[in-house]
Amino acid sequence: MRWREQRQSDNIEDRRGMGGGPRRGMALGGGGIILLIAFALLTGQNPLELLEQVSGPQSSVEVGQPGQVGAPADELGQFSAAVLGSTEDVWTGVFRSAGRTYQQPTLVLFSDSVDSACGYASAAVGPFYCPPDRKVYLDLAFFDELKRQFGAPGDFAQAYVVAHEIGHHVQNLLGIANKVRAAQQSASEEQANALSVRMELQADCLAGVWANQAGRSANLIEAGDLEEGLTAASAIGDDQIQRRSQGYVVPESWTHGSSEQRTRWLRRGAQSGDMNDCDTFSANEL
Ligand SMILES: [Zn+2]
Repeated sequence: MRWREQRQSDNIEDRRGMGGGPRRGMALGGGGIILLIAFALLTGQNPLELLEQVSGPQSSVEVGQPGQVGAPADELGQFSAAVLGSTEDVWTGVFRSAGRTYQQPTLVLFSDSVDSACGYASAAVGPFYCPPDRKVYLDLAFFDELKRQFGAPGDFAQAYVVAHEIGHHVQNLLGIANKVRAAQQSASEEQANALSVRMELQADCLAGVWANQAGRSANLIEAGDLEEGLTAASAIGDDQIQRRSQGYVVPESWTHGSSEQRTRWLRRGAQSGDMNDCDTFSANEL
């Protein structure tokens, strides 16, 4: 990818190295805390435990610490800012042509764990998009995992991961995410999983639409880039992951789609560049 010439987005919150443990709200003033410690000394209880009992988890309104805002200085941070900038340029144009306004999401970079409006998350869950706060959460160590564990190296493989999460943001702005969530409430587990697969495949297709347009308008994509993305999409297919982790495949439990389905929808978006070709919900075959 020719990402170095690309405009870098400032919609980045860098929370790396800040830790993101479940935060305790501090409802008590200084005087209260001193009293509490005095009480603890008198009763022999651990003052910190008492403090937790009083203030409790979840009493804090602000979710997570804000972190450093703007494009980071390090290589991977700059790369992420460039990919995010490109998705902003592309989706702003696509929305404008459809008579809509694209609202830019924030990319939160974190390490190990993070607090979001969707709850506390460990890096083990992988990158995710949180609709209520409209933020994409990404631990850059996932790029390394993609290369070593999933055998999907290359900058475009990494860009595809970001673009897929941005695809979820687009689904949120278009009201698709809400409709799917509502339908899932009254569905069986199997039906809910099937809806989730269609949602994820659509995000893959939207990542492809971004790649197509970024390639045409910003000259961002080079020969061989798409193949890196297809390798990544295939590596993180549910069938591949199940085969590796449990040794067998259970299609009813899939939530993201098979390797074949994921590569097919990414390729479809990348070939057409038109999000109208990403209607996974009315497709008979995925
Ligand atoms: Zn997804």
